[in-house]
Amino acid sequence: MATVLDQITTESSAADVYRSARPVVSFAEAEVLAQQFGSPLLVASRSVLLRNYEAMRAALPNVELFYAAKANPADAILRPLCEAGSSVDVCSWGEMQAALQAGFSPDNMIHTHPCKTVQNLTNCYNAGLRWFVFDNENEIPKLAQYAPDAKLILRLAVSSSSSLINLSAKFGAFEADAVPLMLAAQAAGLSVKGMSFHVGSQCRSPEDFHHALCQARRIWDKAVRAGIELEMLDVGGGFPAPYMDSVLTLDVYCRSLQRALDETFGDIPVRVIAEPGRGLVAETMTLITRVLGKSTRAGTRWYIIDDGLYGSFSGQVFDHVEYPILARAAQEREQFSCVVAGPTCDSSDVVNRDQKLPDLEIGELLLVPTMGAYTCASASPFNGLDLARIIGVE
Ligand SMILES: *Cc1c(COP(=O)(O)O)cnc(C)c1O
Repeated sequence: MATVLDQITTESSAADVYRSARPVVSFAEAEVLAQQFGSPLLVASRSVLLRNYEAMRAALPNVELFYAAKANPADAILRPLCEAGSSVDVCSWGEMQAALQAGFSPDNMIHTHPCKTVQNLTNCYNAGLRWFVFDNENEIPKLAQYAPDAKLILRLAVSSSSSLINLSAKFGAFEADAVPLMLAAQAAGLSVKGMSFHVGSQCRSPEDFHHALCQARRIWDKAVRAGIELEMLDVGGGFPAPYMDSVLTLDVYCRSLQRALDETFGDIPVRVIAEPGRGLVAETMTLITRVLGKSTRAGTRWYIIDDGLYGSFSGQVFDHVEYPILARAAQEREQFSCVVAGPTCDSSDVVNRDQKLPDLEIGELLLVPTMGAYTCASASPFNGLDLARIIGVE
């Protein structure tokens, strides 16, 4: 399976195979935007978003893309994706409402939360959504009562070795339980149409998809033999984004996934969908943040900036990633080790304890690329501070 990758890596230069974190605005553009809109400011680039979307579509020609709204439900992300023809994956009535407002129709939505409250389920069902996910028997009577004509997808637990975040640690039926669960749903009058998995978020190696697909195919065949008429395979998300380290380009990564799909499911008719979150949108947003204070504590320089762990950097807490922090003309200025801290009164609100930066002025802007996934989505207004404003640019 690694052959596509091997072939590409021997034939091409590193620049064609890997992508690294890059801001969507220059420092000069950031100054203008910060003057106009204030800071902290999250700038969403429509062209970077569409470039990523088209790269995935081209490399996965037979896979329908359902953007995972959980990663970033901002209108500046949802609306351009809707206009480009994407479908959307939602987990709650709140996400569904954001998607409806951005122009998505319920026909182009899938609901992927395996354990729903009745309220979550009925609100989404009554608004017209029909594809729902389950992974345990207690979800079955709920679905049978409140969503009788739903089309169900069974979420499987899969193992993954290269993912930063293991999403099978909480959800997904184990292999031995999969067919009995599908049969139990059918016995309750429900219609089971597909299977899904998630290889884990920030999955650096497409090889993990290959393993998951082999496992899914084994279960698929067992289910079909047991009389379940499966038609859809949902390969979830997991596509990686560049942070401190570069990752494979979407083109190379997705071509490798397509090859694995051809190998494992190429011989049967199946509708394949994917739910990219991070890989699609992380690179599309850059944070503009300002130095609001500095001090020297026990010989170390501290900078207090106007966004932190409670805000756009919340991904460092919940999503376990670290973001590159860029200063203007950093290469031409002497760099020092310093502490970069957020604006709240909490002493744990420290973004980086060993950051290399030049001697910064108060008021100076910093750029933080790859801030489009699991950042503003998990930010809180703790301490009475405003969340970073989001603006879309071309
Ligand atoms: C979070 C999630 C996604 C998106 O995952 P990424 O790693 O951001 O691509 C897709 N599907 C489901 C079911 C999820 O929970």
